Amino acid sequence: MAHGTHFFMNPGPTNIPERILRAMDRGAIDFNGTQFKAIAEECFAGLKRVFKTEQTILAYAATGHGAWEAALVNLFSPGDQVLVVESGFFSLNWGMRGEAFGLEVETLPNDWRRPADPAKLEARLRDDREHRIKAVLLVHCETSTGVINPVAALRRAIDAARHPALFLVDTISSLASIDFRMDEWGVDVVVAGSQKGLMLPTGMAFTGVSAKALAATAAAKLPRVYWDWRRLLGEGSQAYWNGTAPVHFFYGMQEALRMLEEEGLDNVFARHHRLAEATRRAVRAWRRNDGPEVYAIEPGAQSNTITAVLVPEGCDADRVRQTALDRFNVSLGGGLDRLKGRVFRIGHLGDLNEPMLLGAIAAVEMALELAGVPHGQGGINAAMEYLGTDA
Ligand code: PLP
Repeated sequence: MAHGTHFFMNPGPTNIPERILRAMDRGAIDFNGTQFKAIAEECFAGLKRVFKTEQTILAYAATGHGAWEAALVNLFSPGDQVLVVESGFFSLNWGMRGEAFGLEVETLPNDWRRPADPAKLEARLRDDREHRIKAVLLVHCETSTGVINPVAALRRAIDAARHPALFLVDTISSLASIDFRMDEWGVDVVVAGSQKGLMLPTGMAFTGVSAKALAATAAAKLPRVYWDWRRLLGEGSQAYWNGTAPVHFFYGMQEALRMLEEEGLDNVFARHHRLAEATRRAVRAWRRNDGPEVYAIEPGAQSNTITAVLVPEGCDADRVRQTALDRFNVSLGGGLDRLKGRVFRIGHLGDLNEPMLLGAIAAVEMALELAGVPHGQGGINAAMEYLGTDA
């Protein structure tokens, strides 16, 4: 029997703030009416500020998987070649979907513990003299590893190779938590979901689409109806939705965007950095006695939204995770794919503050002990020391 607050520390979905829950706790309205139109317009304008774009944003009733698929079917034809920059489970998964649609998917190999290397991308694109590669697919924050990829530097690599490939970036676990700039960084398609930095329930997905990507849809031959960007764009004006619009999601999104703007995006990013840094300091304390370590090796590429914690060889990360849940009502993320049993993942994104994080870190420290994982003491103290200082 679980008592008290459930500490929800998964790297998505994330905690839904009371303000958003209350905003959604209202009756339905006509999604063709003027009242709803005003809400939708406010939401799309706010999303543009979060994506840092003046270009098009489209939305679907779907999870991130839907937005992944929408990007593929709107841009490509069977046999088209795309290059997936390997970063972990999610990058490879996006590529697998491309294969299912008959694309020729090449993977640019990369160590999961480190960010992608712009020089390697540039060299591969320079080699592609006939410009067969139609797009580069990248995950900004690889949620399975906690590694952040250098989007702007990778864009510069594409430009340095003078390659016309489209640049598609998955921001599902970075948007509205870590700085991302669609236009400044020359990203053609941005994939995002509702349930992480935007603090909404799971079930709405978005794509930011550049003018170059919109132009590419005309030649794309993969079948699409619900995902079809041309239908969503209507007759030159943003029709914004296929089918019945999920009015309650828009109520929630309106509130979420207002909250982000009240706090200020830069302050939101700083808060995420602070909570992430406290988590990393805790893990560094646990590292003593040959204990667990932060999976992402390079300090500059450690995500401010999720920390994957690698347990020592022979230990079971799932046991730590299960103990935290069963004994302390703290939910963590598990290891995915080849990292199953090797890492547990602490999500520190969305609507979160210091005491929530400290509660979770204390529970993890106790779970390490109970699960018999060797570790240094005092992770919680290291986090408190850091968070107790003036920001
Ligand atoms: N891409 C990344 C980076 C993710 O973290 C996730 C989910 O966690 C997905 C894609 C898939 O999104 P969804 O689960 O919303 O379909």
